[in-house]
Amino acid sequence: MATPIVTKAETVLNELAKADNTDRMPVIFIGHGNPMHALHDNAFTKALNNIPKTISKPKAILVVSAHWLTRGTYVSTNPKPKTIYDFGGFPEEMYKIIYEPAGAPELAKELKEKVSSPKIDVDESMGLDHGAWTVLKHMYPAADIPTFQLSIDYYKPASYHFELAKQLSYLRNKGVLIIGSGNIVHNLRMVDFANAHGGYDWASEFDSKVKELLDKGDFKSLVEYEKLGKAALLSIPTNDHYLPMIYPLGLKTGKENISYLYEGLEAGSISMRSFIIK
Ligand code: ZN
Repeated sequence: MATPIVTKAETVLNELAKADNTDRMPVIFIGHGNPMHALHDNAFTKALNNIPKTISKPKAILVVSAHWLTRGTYVSTNPKPKTIYDFGGFPEEMYKIIYEPAGAPELAKELKEKVSSPKIDVDESMGLDHGAWTVLKHMYPAADIPTFQLSIDYYKPASYHFELAKQLSYLRNKGVLIIGSGNIVHNLRMVDFANAHGGYDWASEFDSKVKELLDKGDFKSLVEYEKLGKAALLSIPTNDHYLPMIYPLGLKTGKENISYLYEGLEAGSISMRSFIIK
């Protein structure tokens, strides 16, 4: 018996909807916190471990990390990025971790071409910084997904990063998972290791404020974070860890939702809040 036309049309629509969902990659922000999480097995690393089970396998990963700050914006074209141990005073074990997926030089070069303003420069020797590998090690332990990084021009305001992020949107349709890796609250001078799983009142206040603004979709206020009061100033004494969060915001489309992958304060002045947009 011939299939009724209506059913066929519905099938086509369903297929289109499915294709739309599976082909467009989500965008993620991870609050990476202490590099030692690379070695840990805890609620945070379990949350990271769980992410790939909820999304389709990316063809490549682009990381915007708090630990690649430059003057001007660079994209890494290194076909074999090395693990970078960009921290000091950690146990020997940390320096033995090797996380070395292939790079994605073709995608990186294409990114340089596609983004006309600002001008993107290439870096042929950049490895993977710890903002990338301490997180990816838990998400994709096999290191089998080509990974490249985009630097953060540290001399530009948050609005610049918000606008730049929008131009990266095409990557989502090419199966590229874009990850911002930083921390919403990050004040190292105030770190209190005695308060391992808690935070100062101002840290908690600002983390909650950011969640409220994320939920409302008030990204303008998040970009203009300097206007958010004293808790914001204490939470963002320097904006290196905050700016990676601006990228997912610039990439969010109207129909998409934000859901939280993990939340909580650590060592008094670090927020581990992480989210996915899809
Ligand atoms: Zn960091």
